[in-house]
Amino acid sequence: MTYVVGLTGGIGSGKSTIANLFAELNVPIIDADVVARQIVKKGSPLLARIADHFGPAVLTPEGELNRPFLRHLIFQNDAEKNWLNQLLHPAIREEMNAQLNAQTAPYTLFVVPLLIENKLTELCDRILVIDVQPETQLTRASRRDHSQRALIRKIMDSQVSRETRLSFADDVINNDGELADHHRELRQNVLKLHRTYLDLAERKNH
Ligand code: ATP
Repeated sequence: MTYVVGLTGGIGSGKSTIANLFAELNVPIIDADVVARQIVKKGSPLLARIADHFGPAVLTPEGELNRPFLRHLIFQNDAEKNWLNQLLHPAIREEMNAQLNAQTAPYTLFVVPLLIENKLTELCDRILVIDVQPETQLTRASRRDHSQRALIRKIMDSQVSRETRLSFADDVINNDGELADHHRELRQNVLKLHRTYLDLAERKNH
């Protein structure tokens, strides 16, 4: 069984940016957001159930899930939101488990924005937190998404606090520094962690 390193961090903390540095070292990545999209891909049984429940308007003319429309349907409708979550959450978890079990690499990076909130820490052997100051999150996420800072702030408030997240961490990468100036340093941090994880994986399997 592959050794599972859960990578998490708040919105705009740099999870994808850091995960890419691990990918450059050929570490396999399982990304919760990708899994969440895979399970409702065109033609999937789950997408059919969603279309049965909400009506065919929830599909695009190409038969894909119309995400903005679905978001609109469940916005401020807790009953529908719960129905959807109860359908999707167990399926996402099951698919993540299947993908982790299928891995043959010594360790796998499991990238999950809501790792702590959704108690997916249970699936991990070790937890790596990408940490930045709230101000950095606000600046980077609003720039990336062309969003108002107030909206980013609201999303931050719906996630666990920085302190709580850090209390779960076995390892922390601070990503406050500008990439242009800190690329080398980040790469070195990642390489050091990579060696640690290979060691830990080896020890677990012997
Ligand atoms: P989310 O959970 O919101 O999807 P994330 O944690 O995966 O975000 P990224 O998408 O990696 O975060 O980073 C957020 C934004 O900040 C991106 O536009 C990215 O290019 C930028 N960014 C990340 N790290 C740095 C850095 N060290 N310096 C400058 N910009 C950065």
